[in-house]
Amino acid sequence: MKYLIAANWKMHKTVAETLDYLDKFLPAVKDLFTVDIMIAPPFTALASASIKLDAAKKEGAYNVHLGAQNMFWADEGAFTGEISPVMLNELDVQYVIIGHSERRHIFKEDNDLINKKMYSAVEHGIRPILCVGETIEEREQGITLKVIEKQIKAGLAGIEMDMPFIDIAYEPVWAIGTGKTATPEQAEEVHKFIRELIHDLSKGNDSKTRILYGGSVKPENAKNLIVKDHVDGFLVGSASLDPQKFYKIITEVLEV
Ligand code: PEP
Repeated sequence: MKYLIAANWKMHKTVAETLDYLDKFLPAVKDLFTVDIMIAPPFTALASASIKLDAAKKEGAYNVHLGAQNMFWADEGAFTGEISPVMLNELDVQYVIIGHSERRHIFKEDNDLINKKMYSAVEHGIRPILCVGETIEEREQGITLKVIEKQIKAGLAGIEMDMPFIDIAYEPVWAIGTGKTATPEQAEEVHKFIRELIHDLSKGNDSKTRILYGGSVKPENAKNLIVKDHVDGFLVGSASLDPQKFYKIITEVLEV
């Protein structure tokens, strides 16, 4: 299974900044074929990024994929402000981040809505990355694994057999954007639990599912996390905004 190193830019970068980033980043990574790279810019930059990535593919950069940070489940309709999977397909978006902690906590997305989005992404051939993670209070109460189990079972309800087309990101809420990272041991404990859970849910059909770690990943801590058996890649926020830092994270992974 290839590692997946994914960039979540959140609400950062204009179209011009996106193109400038890709101009610097793509030549550096285009020959790194042993890893999958995904970049999720804001919706407004997807079309320009798509054209740029298409051109890069013609130069051999098949390993860099376009992702969206979110989507709605319906194809079209009266859903002001939302973006549909059909619209993402038109731009050759290959991945979509679903259930990010900021969507769950700031925008109050619940497990039911997240499940509908997961179902729709799979149906439209856009590979979803389902994000799960506990809050600091939940960790302190000792219910981390219970929370993760609930989020995964609810998020995957009805699409368990589509596991080969799904990736999961474990992102402890207390580690996202805080500078605090889970220790490699804390991450491994949860990743192993997720692996066993999705193995059961999919009746053993999980060998293509990557379990990513997310939460203040940077060049300095990437290697200690990726060496763990069940860490199959990263979902990177702040450190992915700088093409050099993101590149460095990728090369740390490749050295393992
Ligand atoms: C994220 O947004 O998915 C994330 C992990 O952010 P950061 O790397 O900034 O903690």
